Amino acid sequence: MADSSAMHAFQIEGINYANGNHLKISVAGGLIVSVSEEENTGRIDLPFIAPGLIDNQINGYVNIDFSGDYLASGDLEKAASSIWASGVTTFLPTLITNSHYHLIRNFRIMGEDLAINKLLSLSVPGFHLEGPYISAEDGYRGCHPAEHIRKPSWDEFSEFNRASGGRIIQITLAPETEGATDFISQCRENGILVAIGHSGASAAQIKQSVDSGASLSTHLGNGCANMINRHNNPIWPQLADDRLMVSIIADGHHLTPEELIVFRKAKGAGNMILTSDVMYLAGMTPGRYKFLGLDVTLTPEGMLLNTELNCLAGASFPLKTGVGNFMRHTGCSMKEAIDMASLNVAKIYNLNDRGSLAPGKKADIILFNLIDSIPDILKTYLSGNLVYSKL
Ligand SMILES: [Zn+2]
Repeated sequence: MADSSAMHAFQIEGINYANGNHLKISVAGGLIVSVSEEENTGRIDLPFIAPGLIDNQINGYVNIDFSGDYLASGDLEKAASSIWASGVTTFLPTLITNSHYHLIRNFRIMGEDLAINKLLSLSVPGFHLEGPYISAEDGYRGCHPAEHIRKPSWDEFSEFNRASGGRIIQITLAPETEGATDFISQCRENGILVAIGHSGASAAQIKQSVDSGASLSTHLGNGCANMINRHNNPIWPQLADDRLMVSIIADGHHLTPEELIVFRKAKGAGNMILTSDVMYLAGMTPGRYKFLGLDVTLTPEGMLLNTELNCLAGASFPLKTGVGNFMRHTGCSMKEAIDMASLNVAKIYNLNDRGSLAPGKKADIILFNLIDSIPDILKTYLSGNLVYSKL
């Protein structure tokens, strides 16, 4: 997959996503070495240029399920090549609630893949574990299998982390689970980012979890019961607490345009990230499929629905679709939307080597045109390697 472009110097040019200027970027040794910029050149023939997108929640892609029973060595790279084609250069493979055996197995398989695959390791800084320490209540648990939901255990989590090669960098949990406060403190002491999600926590429980170190809300507005109390529900306290950043899924199905607008007003653009929450049916044809023993329908509009639980089973659109939807529905600039899917995400994980087009950063770069405000990816560079070209 790697080509020689990481070794020699070359130049990439395009229209700066942040300000419309003509940008020329020199790349050598996998890094951006210099950037030159000119205003008002009138070069409308060039594509836009932006930092590669960063997605903190990818459950699978193109028929590869990171939580699946049949995940095999090499699958992570197969999924990655399609993920790179969607403009994402950094992602967190996400494992969801499952049996102890399956979580250990799949963390080990992907951890070993990362240990031997240099290009992949440049793209995957670590794993996100969503569950199994979440709310067992229908609605809040979404499609996570109830039989595998349990209370937090630092010993068990440590086994998962060892199986992954010490690569778990985020856990999403419910603050109301027994022992969550101590567990969150242990995560923070060990540098694991704690996010709140699939939770019916009270305002007091949410406050306590943030006091203990939780710093992110996972896909706010989802992983929530369909019928909630209009005053006392888990959404308002997470919106109200300025210490919490939020991730949102702007795929057109998980949140309404009005929720996108209100969340942005409440949090401010700098405190939000876009995430895809794509699962293994992303990139597949519409139809009926199985997911964790449930019937799931992928509609022609890209919705993944389980009618039995009346919940969405993750998403099918890549992160770039969220970028386009967020721009269209909020009227924000391209810089704001792309930063929510790159720079802001990099900051959360202290990935200071990526997320912007500055000298010294990793040459993670995308070239694209907009079609109905959604980026149509033409080229993707990962640390200076051309990992996707449409032409
Ligand atoms: Zn979820």
